[in-house]
Amino acid sequence: MKNKYDVLVIGGGPAGAIAAKTAVEKGLSACIVEKRPAIGAPVRCAEGIGKEALHEFIEPNPRWISAEMTGAAIVAPDGFLMKLESKFAGNKVGYILDRKFFDRELVWRAAEAGADVAVKSRASAPIMENGCVKGAKIESCGQITKVSAGVVIAADGVESKFSRWCGIDTTVPVREIMSSVQYLMADIDIDAHTTVFYLGNEIAPEGYLWIFPKGERCANVGIGISGKKSGEGHRAKDYLDRFVKKTFPQGKAIECIAGGVSVCQPLDCTVADGLIIAGDAARVVDPLTGGGIYNGMYTGRLAAEVASECIEKCDVSKTALMKYDKTWRASKMGKAIERNYHIKEYLIRQPDTKLNEIIHSVSKLNLSDFTTLSLIKEIIRVNPKLMLELGTLAASIR
Ligand SMILES: Cc1cc2nc3c(=O)[nH]c(=O)nc-3n(C[C@H](O)[C@H](O)[C@H](O)COP(=O)(O)OP(=O)(O)OC[C@H]3O[C@@H](n4cnc5c(N)ncnc54)[C@H](O)[C@@H]3O)c2cc1C
Repeated sequence: MKNKYDVLVIGGGPAGAIAAKTAVEKGLSACIVEKRPAIGAPVRCAEGIGKEALHEFIEPNPRWISAEMTGAAIVAPDGFLMKLESKFAGNKVGYILDRKFFDRELVWRAAEAGADVAVKSRASAPIMENGCVKGAKIESCGQITKVSAGVVIAADGVESKFSRWCGIDTTVPVREIMSSVQYLMADIDIDAHTTVFYLGNEIAPEGYLWIFPKGERCANVGIGISGKKSGEGHRAKDYLDRFVKKTFPQGKAIECIAGGVSVCQPLDCTVADGLIIAGDAARVVDPLTGGGIYNGMYTGRLAAEVASECIEKCDVSKTALMKYDKTWRASKMGKAIERNYHIKEYLIRQPDTKLNEIIHSVSKLNLSDFTTLSLIKEIIRVNPKLMLELGTLAASIR
């Protein structure tokens, strides 16, 4: 690690890796600092990503694709199963990754392109000059190094602290943090090419439970519930344990992970003087699905592109960097976040009887495409009353 870079990237997840790779491809010097000792571990993810989404950034490689999906199923609160066979242009599933290797591959590619990488190196404070971010203090093995940078890209994930230290309000209301737990389960009877989502206030209040296959008899089985619904005796793990005991009594959990997913709206502003915030740190996770791998890569790339333009023009002020904020908000991704936030807010308020009604009605259709949007469109089409309940939002969906 040197003392000066054009772009300093904090965090070696998908957002940070793509940001660093893009920056060096634009001819800038860049460094990723990652606080963990190893890129990609521990994994805190169900690892699902749509095929098109992945292909936009990298060609799939069997080394880090655990399984390919050809269908999805939604289980209603009353137990009714709606199966969606699909040609899969899906934006939630398509592939189930092995993120330990996927994240490494992304960082490896950034390194091969010319980026420096420092693991076990934690950004502990920003370096500020007249209110402008000029770099960061990096703590590694008890030593602190001051690293200055033209632009700092904060890609430090859901637990992001860096932007807060720079004076940005990053608070997420408790009810909008999904408390999540997941087991990697072996020796279970599953359809190895179908993802399954369980809905209902009994099974996963204000969230959902998922089975994402990782092989013939192996899957990520996890749950996310609203932080506000979590408490003694009814935490996410309690719900998951109940489900696993009933559904996979012979199964063995060979890994357990826990983490938070922000399902709030994105930060009000994702730039400041000398700073761009990308990925989970910017709260750009899809609030309906909890998916953030693609959104992280998308914002990481855009962050580096805008940083490169601004560095070239010798203007890294907030005003100049605003191009990043405006571009992602106007993008397909930004619009989907906005739309899906309102749909999520609507759905979490519905009783199980209403969820049953919606799922039963959609199951009568012959859906050939399972994107979140196509599903929502169909739900509205067969439940015209929903149009009124969703208000003006429905018009933008049609
Ligand atoms: C249980 C669960 C299931 C999920 N399932 C899915 C799914 O199926 N599909 C999907 O698309 N998304 C899913 N997500 C969300 C997905 O994991 C994230 O959206 C994605 O990892 C975001 O990438 P990122 O690069 O922004 O952040 P991260 O991948 O979190 O990377 C941030 C990195 O920054 C590092 N860091 C933090 N602070 C510092 C610091 N001060 N200095 C240096 N380094 C630092 C962290 O160690 C971390 O490695 C899931 C999340 C959870 C918790």
